[in-house]
Amino acid sequence: VLIVSIDTLRADHLGCYGYAPYTEPVSPRIDQFAKESLRFERCFAPRGQTGPSLTAMLTGCYPSRHGVLDNFVAMAPDTTSLPQMLAAAGYESHAFLAWYPILRADKERLGFGGAKGRGGAVAGSFFEARPTMKSERESRWDDAAEQAFVEFVRKRPRDARPFFAWVHFYDVHQPYAPPAPYDEKFVGDYRGRLRMPSNASEADFDRIVREPGLDASMKSRRPLDPADAKYVVALYDGGVACADARFGRVLDALAASGLANDTVVVLTADHGDELGEHRGLWFHGNSVYDSVLRIPLIVRAPGKAKGRSDQLVQNVDLAPTLLDLLGRPKPSGIDGISFEPWLEPSVGIDSPASGLVGRGVAWSEWQNLVLGARTDQWKLVLNPKGARLKKPPFDGPREAGFSIGCHELYDVRADVHELDDVWKAKRGEPDVAALLAQVEAEYARRFASLVPASAPLVADPAERQRLAQLGYGNASGEAADYTLDPEACADDK
Ligand SMILES: [Zn+2]
Repeated sequence: VLIVSIDTLRADHLGCYGYAPYTEPVSPRIDQFAKESLRFERCFAPRGQTGPSLTAMLTGCYPSRHGVLDNFVAMAPDTTSLPQMLAAAGYESHAFLAWYPILRADKERLGFGGAKGRGGAVAGSFFEARPTMKSERESRWDDAAEQAFVEFVRKRPRDARPFFAWVHFYDVHQPYAPPAPYDEKFVGDYRGRLRMPSNASEADFDRIVREPGLDASMKSRRPLDPADAKYVVALYDGGVACADARFGRVLDALAASGLANDTVVVLTADHGDELGEHRGLWFHGNSVYDSVLRIPLIVRAPGKAKGRSDQLVQNVDLAPTLLDLLGRPKPSGIDGISFEPWLEPSVGIDSPASGLVGRGVAWSEWQNLVLGARTDQWKLVLNPKGARLKKPPFDGPREAGFSIGCHELYDVRADVHELDDVWKAKRGEPDVAALLAQVEAEYARRFASLVPASAPLVADPAERQRLAQLGYGNASGEAADYTLDPEACADDK
């Protein structure tokens, strides 16, 4: 089993999901891979933040259950991971990561590399590039993770035990500064105020995101100048193209090793990024919208179904699905729902005749304060304590924070970018009232006994500053990342 997750990769910026704004494709290798796979059109992350979302992918549990409510927050002690679930079947587990922002103790407890978790010791290895190259840019971390994986499969004896490998890349993440030629690949002749120099440094990026005109646009919710907006998207797409090529080399290495026909390969992401839709660029951690929560999920399983599925799925569903595919028992007490039946070629993808019933709701959480529910038609966001999320994409003049209403409602069929909040107009309608009751009950069930994640968790001030520049503001040492104003919600029922 091989899972490749690409940090910050939006589904809707991949060619196989319909993205084609340039003469050249942005993601030719992923598009080709999708033709050999089952591609899920509607997969949603349970949180727009790296640590909580990747831990959900690896445990089959929402953050409210696995406990990683934010980056660098500890896992709940009774959490079981995919490496541990697979160890009983003789699988080794190997991780090849650019970076994974969770606590070091939890990396061991996840069970990669011989570490002891709840399920006992798991044979394997754990490679994480970033701690060995602190000041390097993200793509260097990715080069190292890619090379470590390629070496691993190249040297893998054909008669070795089965393995679960997880590869995680960062090329797409801010500051959107992939190496040449990807930094210039889609930008055209733009020479405006946001122009990043070739081989942009972190200082260049900091200067650009604090550009006064940009900040004023965000604060006043004015759209960016179209040329500026197009440029930022072109930089993002350069990162996507860079990650796509990297993914292609990973697939090539697997094929060259002779393992491709025996390996289930999954391509996914931990979350997307705001590209100007909701008062922000270059950020994701506080967003509750599909721009951040909708992620790619493409599964290539030898002998299994190919094509596309419109089923609602989430990354918590991946662990039980893989266990079903491998014929292994699923542990009790996880949140994910197996979508393995849809991978059976005989079933007929999404055919009503199949009788298969998937999940009705894709859930998203923000710590223990905000719960979102995404159905076929609606996105309902419940924030009953009036949490105002202080953690901005960057510090500085945008410190005012990210505001989420006590209730927000979007008709996601008609309004795919969730720009038109229809809560006040639609809250009386029976299906909306029924959804609200379901979300309120789920809110109480998930959050009632949870304590909020606390900070600080990163002791070194220089490291905190570096993490904050990367958007990991919760490592900043502040006491809390939000304020509460329940009074504001009193008349929003
Ligand atoms: Zn991430």
